[in-house]
Amino acid sequence: MSKIDEKLEPVLDQVLRRNAGELEFHQAVTEVLESLGRVVAKYPSYLENALIERICEPERQIIFRVPWVDDQGQVHINRGFRVQFNSALGPYKGGLRFHPSVNVGIIKFLGFEQTFKNALTGLPIGGGKGGSDFDPRGRSDGEIMRFCQSYMTELHRHLGEYTDVPAGDIGVGGREIGYLFGQYKRLTNRYEAGVLTGKGLVYGGSRARTEATGYGAVYFVERMLATKQLAFDQRRVVVSGSGNVAIYTAEKITEFGGKVVACSDSSGYVVDEGGIDLALLKEVKESRRERISEYARLKGDGARFSDTGSIWDVPCEIAMPSATQNELTGRDAKALIQNGVIAVGEGANMPSTPEAVRFFREAGVLFAPGKAANAGGVATSALEMQQNASRDSWTFEQTEQRLADIMRRIHDTCAATADEFGTPGDYVLGANIAGFVRVAEAMRALGVI
Ligand code: GLU
Repeated sequence: MSKIDEKLEPVLDQVLRRNAGELEFHQAVTEVLESLGRVVAKYPSYLENALIERICEPERQIIFRVPWVDDQGQVHINRGFRVQFNSALGPYKGGLRFHPSVNVGIIKFLGFEQTFKNALTGLPIGGGKGGSDFDPRGRSDGEIMRFCQSYMTELHRHLGEYTDVPAGDIGVGGREIGYLFGQYKRLTNRYEAGVLTGKGLVYGGSRARTEATGYGAVYFVERMLATKQLAFDQRRVVVSGSGNVAIYTAEKITEFGGKVVACSDSSGYVVDEGGIDLALLKEVKESRRERISEYARLKGDGARFSDTGSIWDVPCEIAMPSATQNELTGRDAKALIQNGVIAVGEGANMPSTPEAVRFFREAGVLFAPGKAANAGGVATSALEMQQNASRDSWTFEQTEQRLADIMRRIHDTCAATADEFGTPGDYVLGANIAGFVRVAEAMRALGVI
């Protein structure tokens, strides 16, 4: 487990050297290549034609200046990114992240993960990711709109429903997608609904897209638990984060009879032993856009806020890290294991550090990696593209049913691949191999591209 095959070592060395200092990208590539030893032993042809090197190199990286004017008339500059990682399976597809931590290494790690995640959905979408180091916190609605317009003024020339289809990620939700789409439409004079996903329902969005990443992660974990005759019912669950993914993860867990006792944001976490009140959480986070401490203040008795320590010290049987990358460390994993965690499902992208993943796997904890477990968001984006292409709009039930089927299929593909490669129950290996093989097979068929 977690040792790189010697035939793959030179490939990894070259990727690390070529992308010096991009630590999150190194982490994501290392994790995938560590899973491929058994693949290249079984299919040596994957070492030919620089196939693996090509998969690790983005097809195109776009970096641009985003100038915008704040409410006081002050001009600001941010950096915009779009990494078009791989289009062997379909147009580049993946979200946009607006957060001050964004840099090219983070966007590359996300685009790399996205490529395999999208392959796992079985839908015709390639991988990409973009964003900006813009910090939306504390910005007025007008400032957000002007920023989105400026960002799209540059990016639009690189997009298209058959070329590259962005969506949301951290800091980019329905409001931002609306402003981005408005600007795209204005610049191109085309009502090309399929160029962005995560749109509002009134202008071509899909029902269940908002809920999809969270609901999908819960469907995946439900299926994983069922392999051991376990279920969410009556279980204590901790869901980190309180954005779109965390809120709808908590909602579906609650529907399945589980009790979500804690959630968080970057300022701290709240524990509510009676179970998180979802209506209040939505009110605080979605409507008022306030910090999580507001939840504890409004709830009063029974809920407490903490801005010290780790949310992962709150005892639970199921953990769903749904905030951001590397939020769950080796220390946190040990605390969770000590407190009797039985399953971990990653709602965020790469939220567990490599050490944490190692501890979970060694302790026999059921572990669902993000690139499989959180694929429901992008899968439903692909369903949104289908609805746009056929000028149709499906019911919530129809869309959620498709999502549930896709998640169960992804689970079963990962499980079957882990079995095939002699490591039953290892979803990390199963997801990495199954995603990789799909991309590699398509690339091979398309020649040296
Ligand atoms: N940002 C989401 C992800 O990490 C969704 C991307 C999309 O819908 O294109 O998968």
